[in-house]
Amino acid sequence: PVYLDGNATTPIDPQVVQSMAAYDQRSPGNPSSAHVHGARAETALRAARGEVAQLVGADPSQVIFMSGATEANNQVFHAISSKTGKQTAKPHLITSCIEHKSVLDACCRLQETLGWDVTYLPVGSDGVVRVQALEEALRPETLLVSIMLVNNEIGTRQPVWQIGRICKDRGVLFHVDAAQAVGKVHIDMRQLQADALSVSAHKFHGPKGIGALIVSPHMEQLIRQTPLLVGGGQERGLRSGTVPVPLAVGFGRASQLAREQLLHSLADAGELGKKFFHGIKKELEQGVAEICLNGSYEERVWSNVSVRIRGIDGGELLQQILPRVSCSSSSACNGAFHGSHVLEAIGVDTSRNAVLRFGLTRMTTGAEVEIAIESVVASIKKLRQL
Ligand code: PLP
Repeated sequence: PVYLDGNATTPIDPQVVQSMAAYDQRSPGNPSSAHVHGARAETALRAARGEVAQLVGADPSQVIFMSGATEANNQVFHAISSKTGKQTAKPHLITSCIEHKSVLDACCRLQETLGWDVTYLPVGSDGVVRVQALEEALRPETLLVSIMLVNNEIGTRQPVWQIGRICKDRGVLFHVDAAQAVGKVHIDMRQLQADALSVSAHKFHGPKGIGALIVSPHMEQLIRQTPLLVGGGQERGLRSGTVPVPLAVGFGRASQLAREQLLHSLADAGELGKKFFHGIKKELEQGVAEICLNGSYEERVWSNVSVRIRGIDGGELLQQILPRVSCSSSSACNGAFHGSHVLEAIGVDTSRNAVLRFGLTRMTTGAEVEIAIESVVASIKKLRQL
């Protein structure tokens, strides 16, 4: 089948594999060891850190290697739990109701275990957070705002640049989950004015099992007080555990490739994504079925095409499509479709609509898009006839 599930994960770039294999053959060392092999590992790690930093407009000293965005998100909320604030009122957090589960569950835990207050900002049917609603939700006791850059289920872009400015003005910490944005959107940590940015390598053709949290000095200080993992004191004492150097090397190479190809791949994926959506829509509009894009047409990355089709059973449709196109109904974390908090937030009734999410990547070809259009349209027509 054609692979169109690039939001769940992307295929590793052969050049990334090559960089990892070449490194591993040359140096089996632990970066903390004093010998030559250790020094080589440390050098490779430094180079990878530099590449990751450059991709997101940060300084290498801001990069903390971790296992992925889930860990990075968890670390942010774990660190904030050490900040009790001077005020007598309950500490307060602001996030949105369309965040990744790793953010929502971390918020929930702080509510349940420490009794903190959390505001879950709603979104409109466009799947975008309103800046004004965020401003109104801010309180003197708000410690952190956490808003994702690109949504993983419907691809909508959030106004994080505006939110960053507001948080800076109000002296509130700001976290951005950028797992779905890196390699698709130009990111500059300095412009963004974020205190923490979560990244996963496998979302942009890097290896699975590595990512990073990019931090401001203030966030670094909080993590130093409350690291998620304690032990050997790697990553400047911020994240214990031997860094998997071959994975970091691959992460670095993937970052370099993403930076070099950003403009090119953005234009290509955008064009292909639009072509895919309009291709299906055109075929179905001739009396077959009604199809709509989920979330804003403008404020989105077109590498994510999430659609709803009226009057068709989602499960049956997926069964028809999956032998020919690997796609999903919402996010991979939910596994089989158990409902989606994002679709619910934008008012999509999944009992009346089939929802399909297609994720294009830098490696998706025009020919694959043609096959996918044909397969999706044929599957819908077949279900309509039954
Ligand atoms: N945040 C977002 C927006 C994501 O899409 C994902 C991946 O699904 C994550 C966080 C978690 O990333 P990982 O599974 O690589 O830890």
